[in-house]
Amino acid sequence: MAVTDVRGALALALPTARVQRLRQIQAGAAELRLPTYVVGGFARDLLLGRPPGDFDLVVQAADEADASAGPRLAGALARRWGGEVTTHRAFGTATWFHPAQENIDFATARTEIYTRPGALPEVTPAVSILADLSRRDFTLNALAFRVDGDGFGEMLDPYQGQDDLAARRVRVLHGQSFQQDPTRIFRGVRYEQRLGFRISPETLNLIAPALTHIAAVSGERVRRELELIFAEPQASAMLSRLAGLGVLAAVNPALSWNAESARRVAVLADLPVAEWKLDRDLVRDSAYLALLLSEADQDAAGRALERLTASRDLQGAVTGALGLRLPANTRPSEAVTVLDRLPPAAVAAAAVLWPEQRHVLEQYLAAWRFVRPALSGDDLVALGLKPGPEFRRWLGQLRAERLDGAELDRDGELALVRQWARLEDHVGPEEAHD
Ligand code: ATP
Ligand code: MG
Repeated sequence: MAVTDVRGALALALPTARVQRLRQIQAGAAELRLPTYVVGGFARDLLLGRPPGDFDLVVQAADEADASAGPRLAGALARRWGGEVTTHRAFGTATWFHPAQENIDFATARTEIYTRPGALPEVTPAVSILADLSRRDFTLNALAFRVDGDGFGEMLDPYQGQDDLAARRVRVLHGQSFQQDPTRIFRGVRYEQRLGFRISPETLNLIAPALTHIAAVSGERVRRELELIFAEPQASAMLSRLAGLGVLAAVNPALSWNAESARRVAVLADLPVAEWKLDRDLVRDSAYLALLLSEADQDAAGRALERLTASRDLQGAVTGALGLRLPANTRPSEAVTVLDRLPPAAVAAAAVLWPEQRHVLEQYLAAWRFVRPALSGDDLVALGLKPGPEFRRWLGQLRAERLDGAELDRDGELALVRQWARLEDHVGPEEAHD
């Protein structure tokens, strides 16, 4: 594979401020004599000509017992160029927070030891960047380029990740990879569909035997992987790939994704969630989970949400959406009575789940839920009526009249309440002596 011109690619891809940041790191690392590398997604995207994301830096310590190399470099840079550093000593990592610019993560090179499939690994410092790259998920992420001193721009590609990028291939580093960490299956599908690559045949063959190990992965970690997928433009293709590989069923048998789910989820992008002042991520995650569970019965869906240790808000929104059925031709006031009992995120998720109800649900979220009568309880008291349980009912009835299209102003509402009060023999003082 041709030698990559990292310097040239950086100059093309990055704004000057980010290049300057790298130059600061180059000088600081050279001064401390610490071989320092940009690793993973940034290197991958740079080589692909895609807009690269955050810098992820790995600093190689001179001594195996030394986990402080990353934090030391971050500290020196902050002293020289400003900002603050937060250190996680146990992990040998640090973040350089800069007031005016992006925050940068520094990690001391480390290796991982997997004690049991699916569990989080034990992390220990490693002398070499190569050992650090050997713990990574795919060859296309096991890439690094050097940024310290004269070595700036030198590529490290011990697993021929550049060949795989050129061949548009997602490939694991070794046969135990998915068993050690089954969340990599989700990651692999995410890269495959995001980049328009193919998981290589050998890597694909490793998925089926690793599916049993998904049971050992915590609900939080699986949910995190699913949520990362929901956030991607190609989410639907990713879920359908996961379904085809048996991964969804291995997480929980209630989860499924098919052409109909794919068709329905398209609505999500059109919902004005920000205008409705709803939590965008909650609506998105609820809508996807509701679609994933739309073939399951209520109990099975509940168990799947437990498996994923979904938060109360998320569970409430998903089960609310799944259970929502408005009868055809429901009057707005009747719809509001039902919908007011649900969290708004459930209503938004239901608009994705049930296309035939979408129009009504959108009107509820945009307008109906805010409709209130002009009169308040105080106005009724001022009218001479005696406070009681009927106040709530009358104000509710006024709201219903407005929702169902009555043209009511304040006077109109007063007239209606007087009429109801008279009909119900609820007599106020002014009328008592008629
Ligand atoms: P993305 O564009 O999705 O953020 P990324 O490569 O930046 O891609 P991160 O999740 O930010 O991905 O992780 C950073 C790096 O850490 C990856 O490039 C990969 O090398 C490594 N990594 C992350 N998760 C795993 C994992 N489960 N197993 C092995 N290596 C991992
Ligand atoms: Mg990243």
